[in-house]
Amino acid sequence: MSDRKRKPILVIGLGRFGAAVALTLERMGHDVLGVDVDARLVQEFAPQLTKTVEADCTEATTLQRLGATDFDAAVVAIGTDIEASVLTVLALSDLGLNNIWAKATTQSHARILERTGAGHVVFPEQRMGERVAHLLNERLLDFISFGNEFAIARLEAPEAILGLPLVTSRCREKYGVTVVGVKREGQDFLHAIPDTIIFPKDELVVSGKIADIERFSSI
Ligand code: ADP
Repeated sequence: MSDRKRKPILVIGLGRFGAAVALTLERMGHDVLGVDVDARLVQEFAPQLTKTVEADCTEATTLQRLGATDFDAAVVAIGTDIEASVLTVLALSDLGLNNIWAKATTQSHARILERTGAGHVVFPEQRMGERVAHLLNERLLDFISFGNEFAIARLEAPEAILGLPLVTSRCREKYGVTVVGVKREGQDFLHAIPDTIIFPKDELVVSGKIADIERFSSI
């Protein structure tokens, strides 16, 4: 286990998104304070997080009482109640916190959050929507895009390169994608090397332009 000290993080809003963030941070070894106005959620996550508190975080005085300034980062995971989300970000930024992450539901919500002090604004629903659209292509098993053009995807090895070492199939020159990793059935992913032969049912991790990955998946 690493002895690197993990930083304490404040997560405000324990809905679906906030809970996923908080639980993942805990698994990564961070101390997480989870806060929600909903007593039921506070109780539900109490056994799994370092600490949980029931509070309305729209007031700077409440956040001060929670010791918000002692945290290295805060995640404001309130989406539906835009007023509460904006007031919470504003209060955190008034207290001097400069690593504030916030969830937005619309572009205008995001613009307001950025103006009120959120350095990082995320759109989980929009990102997931884009991802699902690509995953509807049944050959893609996982997909992460970076901007509108570039992506990394996991996919079943396409027919045209089966039985060949990667040096022969020349995926980058012919299809515009780089094969980064290969997973044989029942084994873990390994880095792809020129000599790696691709077998039926192998899974590949590839990077490249989105259009090239889509095309490569059905060659
Ligand atoms: P999700 O779609 O991720 O479930 P929601 O916006 O529906 O997101 O949930 C946000 C959570 O934030 C809810 O659990 C809600 O009780 C909580 N919340 C809303 N307003 C406040 C507030 N002022 N202070 C703390 N928590 C809040």
